[in-house]
Amino acid sequence: MRLLSLGYFLSVINALIFSLPTILYLPALAAYPASIILRGWGWRSLGKRLGALGNLYPAIWILGGATYAAILSQSYGLIEYGLLIALATWASYSAIEAALYLRTASKLKLRPLYFSPISLVGVSTITFVFLMSSRTIQFMEQVRYGELTYLVFASSATLAASALLTALTTLRIGAETPTGEREVEALLVSTPQRTTPRRTINENITLPIKREKPPKTARAATVSGPLIRIEVISRSNTVVCSKCGAGAPIGTDKCLECGEPFKKAATALRCPVCKAPFSMARAVSQRHYVCGQCFSDLRVLQR
Ligand SMILES: [Zn+2]
Ligand SMILES: [Zn+2]
Repeated sequence: MRLLSLGYFLSVINALIFSLPTILYLPALAAYPASIILRGWGWRSLGKRLGALGNLYPAIWILGGATYAAILSQSYGLIEYGLLIALATWASYSAIEAALYLRTASKLKLRPLYFSPISLVGVSTITFVFLMSSRTIQFMEQVRYGELTYLVFASSATLAASALLTALTTLRIGAETPTGEREVEALLVSTPQRTTPRRTINENITLPIKREKPPKTARAATVSGPLIRIEVISRSNTVVCSKCGAGAPIGTDKCLECGEPFKKAATALRCPVCKAPFSMARAVSQRHYVCGQCFSDLRVLQR
């Protein structure tokens, strides 16, 4: 996830450079393509976790590359409408990124990203200013000699703020979910009427608890809120038979010694590791539980 953050840090630099005099045009020309590549790559690595929208990352490369090519072509006088093309492609991938911010905010519970689409305000203002100044000389002079400069500054500021917010927020993605070690499995009480119990429950999904139909276990009810999530703090490798005390690897159906079946709950309120009903868990503190069958440490989170 560092790539995504790095891409947005470069984007902050670009937004700042954009508001400075043209002397610093060259660093921007180097930072911009690097930023585009890193951002596309970062979104690509998040892909699966964002659902269908996660497949949009090539658009950032394509449209970003087109923006860059158009700006270069315009500055070397190769094409006449380079700037217009650049504005169109820039606005397009900015809209795609805004959708990605919102999806990431909701999927990965990174609330600050809900504010990242403020960049669209900057994008549309700058587009408007440039479109107007390309049509009328007076408008261009207003931009150049002060009257509208503050608009361009303010727009650049929203771009920088959006990129900085995104960079800082996406830094947390790596920190919160190191692969493998601390898995978070989401679990919830299934309603009694459900005829087809879900066999697999996606990670990171939380389901609402219906207050009027409390879970079977009293303990779970005491921690029930609008949403509950059971997180694995440390994962055990063995389940222990409740009848004879013999151990067996996680996933074993019956005790290898005495044949007693290991408990598996059909509802989602169960140990994420061995599937034992959560009623078997023992409370260590208000939120900390230990599974009664596999002794994995569990934490109950309320959202
Ligand atoms: Zn046994
Ligand atoms: Zn367990």
